[in-house]
Amino acid sequence: MLRKENVHFRKTNKNTVVKRVREVYLRNDIPCLSTQCPKEPPCHEVVKVESSLLSAEPAYYLVPDYSVALRYVELLEQEELTNIIFTETILQRLQSEDKSRTYKSLRQVVKDPRRRSVVFSNEHCKETNVLREPDESIEHRDWRALVQTAAWYRRHLHGNTDIILLSEEFKQEDVLRIDDNNAGIAVMNLREYLTKFWPKTAVLHELLTSLKEAILEEDLENKSQGSIIAKKGPSGTGYQEYKPLSELEAGVKSERFFQGVMRVRANHRDQAFIRGDSNIGEIVIVGSDHRNRAVHGDVVVVELLTKSSWVAPSTHISYNPEEVHAAAEDDEQSSSGVRTSEVKPTGRVVGIMSRNWQPYVATLQEGSEKEAGSFHLVLPLNPIIPKIRIRHHDAKVLANQRIVVRIDSWPVNSQYPNGHYVRSIGPAHDLDTEISAILIEHGISVSQTTQGFSEGSLKEMPINTPERPWVAEPTELAKRRDLRNHIVFSIDPPNCQDIDDAISIKEIGNGQIEFGVHIADVSYFVKENSLTDLEARARGTTVYLSDRRFDMLPKVLSEQLCSLRHHVDRYAMSVMWTLDSEANVLTAWYGRSVIRSACEMEYEQAQGLLNGKDVVPGLDATLCKQLKPSVVLLAKTMRKVRARRMAKGGLELESSEVKFKFKEEGGGISDILPKQPLEVHQIIEEAMVMANGYVAQRIYQGFRESAMLRHHPPPIESHFKMLLRAAESRGFSIDTSSNLALANSLRECASKSENDIEFVKLLKTMATMAMSEASYISSGSMGVDKYAHYGLALDFYTHFTSPIRRYADLVVHRQLMSCLLGATPQKTDNSSDFLKNGLKMEQVAGHLNYKNRESKLAQKDSTELFQTLYVLQKTRNPAAIENGGNDPDAEDLPFTETGIVSEIRENGFFVFVPRFGIKGPVYLKEKSGEISIPLSALKQSGGSEGGGVAGNDHLVMISGCEMDTDLMTQISVKVPPHALGSHASSPNVKVALRLKKSLAHRHTIYMTLIGLDHQGTTASADSKLGLGVSAARGRHMKGHSGRLFTKAGEQLKQDELKRIAQQDPSLAPILQRDLIQGIQEGQHKQQEQQKKGGKNVRKQQPKGGYVDPEEAYYQSRPESSLYNLIESFDRFRIVESNESPASFSS
Ligand SMILES: [Zn+2]
Repeated sequence: MLRKENVHFRKTNKNTVVKRVREVYLRNDIPCLSTQCPKEPPCHEVVKVESSLLSAEPAYYLVPDYSVALRYVELLEQEELTNIIFTETILQRLQSEDKSRTYKSLRQVVKDPRRRSVVFSNEHCKETNVLREPDESIEHRDWRALVQTAAWYRRHLHGNTDIILLSEEFKQEDVLRIDDNNAGIAVMNLREYLTKFWPKTAVLHELLTSLKEAILEEDLENKSQGSIIAKKGPSGTGYQEYKPLSELEAGVKSERFFQGVMRVRANHRDQAFIRGDSNIGEIVIVGSDHRNRAVHGDVVVVELLTKSSWVAPSTHISYNPEEVHAAAEDDEQSSSGVRTSEVKPTGRVVGIMSRNWQPYVATLQEGSEKEAGSFHLVLPLNPIIPKIRIRHHDAKVLANQRIVVRIDSWPVNSQYPNGHYVRSIGPAHDLDTEISAILIEHGISVSQTTQGFSEGSLKEMPINTPERPWVAEPTELAKRRDLRNHIVFSIDPPNCQDIDDAISIKEIGNGQIEFGVHIADVSYFVKENSLTDLEARARGTTVYLSDRRFDMLPKVLSEQLCSLRHHVDRYAMSVMWTLDSEANVLTAWYGRSVIRSACEMEYEQAQGLLNGKDVVPGLDATLCKQLKPSVVLLAKTMRKVRARRMAKGGLELESSEVKFKFKEEGGGISDILPKQPLEVHQIIEEAMVMANGYVAQRIYQGFRESAMLRHHPPPIESHFKMLLRAAESRGFSIDTSSNLALANSLRECASKSENDIEFVKLLKTMATMAMSEASYISSGSMGVDKYAHYGLALDFYTHFTSPIRRYADLVVHRQLMSCLLGATPQKTDNSSDFLKNGLKMEQVAGHLNYKNRESKLAQKDSTELFQTLYVLQKTRNPAAIENGGNDPDAEDLPFTETGIVSEIRENGFFVFVPRFGIKGPVYLKEKSGEISIPLSALKQSGGSEGGGVAGNDHLVMISGCEMDTDLMTQISVKVPPHALGSHASSPNVKVALRLKKSLAHRHTIYMTLIGLDHQGTTASADSKLGLGVSAARGRHMKGHSGRLFTKAGEQLKQDELKRIAQQDPSLAPILQRDLIQGIQEGQHKQQEQQKKGGKNVRKQQPKGGYVDPEEAYYQSRPESSLYNLIESFDRFRIVESNESPASFSS
């Protein structure tokens, strides 16, 4: 080994030159990392390295120089570009010049095995190391180093592969001067390269143009920066310079500052927060000035404000997405924070540790394309991201398009971050565009049309065509347990293509049962580290959206060879148990098998058989006769297994899933169907839970340090707050000390609230929302006592049963196989380091957790997208369409449904409509502060379904109301008596679903209140309600007494009512009935006035003008009416939230 000294001179930021001496040990054995390596053995095998390898077949390898790596990293990130050799020279320079973001991006490219890109340690290689000559510039020395590297590769690979040096600064002749034998080394700038090799890939060309524009601007800015700051100063924006890193670090250490990931609240986007340390908890950051250029996801350092400036997090529902952007501009930070007793530590951002800027989907600000100049503002689709300033030479082509943009910088003197245009994905609100947007926002990089499997990966696939159908190989069959004579069947939703699991069960005498779970043997087809495997690992999971799915594996596997179809031989991984008559496990066998499924059953069909039917639709009678005993035995057995698990603390939780039914032709949604809970779902789930649990134990035996397990930690105690309060409101107490205690409490609530299913559902949903997120772990990352799955009440758990659609399961299959083979004397499997390496397993688990979460979020976004499409479809007025959609008077058609109030806020509440799984806000308080409710809400709905609302009654708004909220459980609206209907107390409301349309953002659903739904408010429910209602009424009267109604007589009545209500709660309804007469008169009078005055009370209100509620009240008050208090929302029931609860899947 040869020691050499490399001397570098670097210019620092302060323009001083420092001499750096770096000792380098030069070596002869630096590997080329190419699959083409002609050496025997190849050099990467001699020196063990963890790296992907350059491929064998390409026409050229790319070597970018510093000018390209520094400023065009995004182009290098594009997946079209593969086989890139990053030199150590470039990486070291990025590090020394503190370009850590660029450095990380390049590292990321190398890490992705699909990119076939490597880092070559040219500075350590004896043959490629170059010394800087006297008076030579750094740039030139580095360039020489690259040319040496290129020449070395040419020699090393015997001239088999050309090298393209990518540079924006150097030219072909610059190679000549260094290496006279330069055949096979081409120098190209990026434009030349793209034109030659990617002439038709517009995306790459556009991106290059856009990057060049951004660079141009950055250069201009750098030149003029000094003068701008001198003139305007950073104060022009309200932002502050960040504190130096050393001060930030010292501040965090001494607990003067707090560091954390800044998150912006989705429902109130003027507010952000970080989680400080355990002492201080959450720190709120209000307004854009205090956010100080930090963007959602950045790791920031926060300084606390003085206590007098602390605020409470907003409890408003924000009115629309644009509001955020508006708020950011108006800089109204104080208005959005509410000062109450619940103030939280509040701070401001003083520095940023790392940026988490992503590609964002955005839309050009409306009208911006008409403005002169090349700078434009774009509004990100996700309203928690600030507007971004981009440069584009022809904004007209961007109008009404969804585009992808990236942020480059956010100078202190700029109101908005500077970014650049990446590409266009299509017209806004076009279905395919919106789906692409969802995929991009969740980092799912799958092309919609091709599903994006590379040719190489497809070449690895077995052949299965009508001419050459795939058949099981005799040699393989000989190695497997033959279960083709067992009755095996699968139970799935209708039209399931990717059938992961099948079941067999039979009595084998002595009261014993043989029970088998058979899972698609994906690991047989997908070999570790094959291209398909790498692709599947990168994808992590199949992504299911409402109308389409993006597979983790190519279709030939996911729908055909792996899918456990009926009437064909299929390889499986099986777990076979012998159970006693009480379903206790006597023996367990694991191994590879071959099965032949008798039937692809649907849930409904299986449930039919279970319900005692002899024939079910879609299955022939013989098959039914054959399968029925198995289904019945399965149910009988699984009920016992489940009961035992429940007794150990297994939780039954709630989620609200919906399915979309699409019209056969011409698109459109024909219906939204809530998932029908069937017992057979539970039964199949239990069978899978059992298999997963057993496999988890088995692989842990073989891989103590690196078993891929699924872990569900206990919830954080404070997350139960809502659940406890809701239960308390009904006089229940809930013990959350353990999963068993919680399960028992919930069961008790359920048994005592038998005729109140919604309340029970509410509690379960709240319990679900309190759960922590389940995640994959490597067993070595925590103690064995921590593995437990809280929700399922199992000590060991993993994912084994869905290898077609989850990569984790594929890893688990390999680990299981390795365990089984490991037991035999000679170890035949080539079990990789990967499975045994705890650290690597931890990384993979982390990656899969990320992919899993993003896929769930994408799924949720797509559900919401289709829900809005459905509302759009339902409310679209044909008149508006006939007039070219331009008729401003064509009102949307009414679309009314019954919903449950699910969350109470200061200016209204959220309603959950179970029928469609839709949750949306109902505003009782307008943005202007005016509180109003529709007249129809006060009238008895008369019980007629759907017809409860006559005409446009719901448009007649009663203004001058007062509102009281007890966040979480109660909201009450106090209405002036002239408008009175009857007392109403109901958990259900009738709402009209509406759509707030937006160009820049997704349309959002909101609702207007139409009335209270009295259906189902049975006598027993009423009497049960009595206490709660009157107690609440008493409280409200106290709160309001003498405030609004000042006349002595009224005060008296109010006090009287209060006294009566307190003495005998049961009298309250009677009292109110007596009031009805006066009420009806009042109503009549008011309606008359409305008829005279015009269509709509609300429209009569002067806009923005304040109407004194007392005046309004006295002016129209009928003589005979008594003061009444409407407790419209006495009782709150928070039920199924549409929000995806913390992921909790079996
Ligand atoms: Zn080599």
